[in-house]
Amino acid sequence: EELEQLVEERTRDLRTAQDGLVQSAKLAALGQMSAALAHEINQPLTAQRMQLATLRLLLDHGRVDDAYKALKPVDDMLTRMAALTGHLKTFARKSPSGLRERLDLAAVVDQSLQLLDARLRDEQVSTVLHLTRPAWVRGDAIRLEQVLINLLRNALDAMQDKPCKRLEIRLEADEQLWRLTVTDNGGGIAEEHLPNVFDPFFTTKPVGDGLGLGLAVSFAIVHESGGRLSADNHVNGAVFTVTLPIDLEAHSPC
Ligand code: ADP
Repeated sequence: EELEQLVEERTRDLRTAQDGLVQSAKLAALGQMSAALAHEINQPLTAQRMQLATLRLLLDHGRVDDAYKALKPVDDMLTRMAALTGHLKTFARKSPSGLRERLDLAAVVDQSLQLLDARLRDEQVSTVLHLTRPAWVRGDAIRLEQVLINLLRNALDAMQDKPCKRLEIRLEADEQLWRLTVTDNGGGIAEEHLPNVFDPFFTTKPVGDGLGLGLAVSFAIVHESGGRLSADNHVNGAVFTVTLPIDLEAHSPC
């Protein structure tokens, strides 16, 4: 009984420590993301100021129909900005551990890509998607989104100096599992580093750029959801694979 109690206590301690890690990695990610966000929000704000000036002119001249037409792009931009900040709110929220909601993994990929959209465009990354949808799994959408974001940001970092950046995301069923792969052409992981990439605080990035927590936290999150996360190299880059059990109940036709 004493032993059981001890194990229970240790498991609880471990979970608290893990939650703490997840939270600090999120905060670090948020910090790094703010520059990209400022860019993403400032540009439409400037555009909107100009659009409003145009609107004022149109109204001054009594061109009400044209003014209505000019409202549409303003509306679209506001919707986009609201989607962006909406994501960030859920991303920053501390979610209770052990959440096992039914979710579509393909939608998690969509959301993560949307969050990184500015960087993908700025760095002219050609993105190839092969997503089976819906891909029902059980887990915590916010945490799984964090895993995807970590993998995608690492891929982008690795490809930073490559003239032609190619990112491929595949999601397909493999027996009882969903297999999600993120492949880049950033040169891959040095053979001697492969066994260490999931270690907390392992980083090859310059001080200030890398915390070495992204993959350690991602590994913990995927395991917590009953899955596996692994790293490998292919011809000219790295490939990260997430496997998660298929939520068979959700896929059942009855
Ligand atoms: P950080 O990004 O802060 O360094 P991570 O835990 O996310 O922390 O990654 C650890 C290390 O794994 C990176 O510093 C890098 O050396 C290596 N790595 C991760 N993803 C890739 C990738 N796609 N290509 C090459 N190396 C990678």
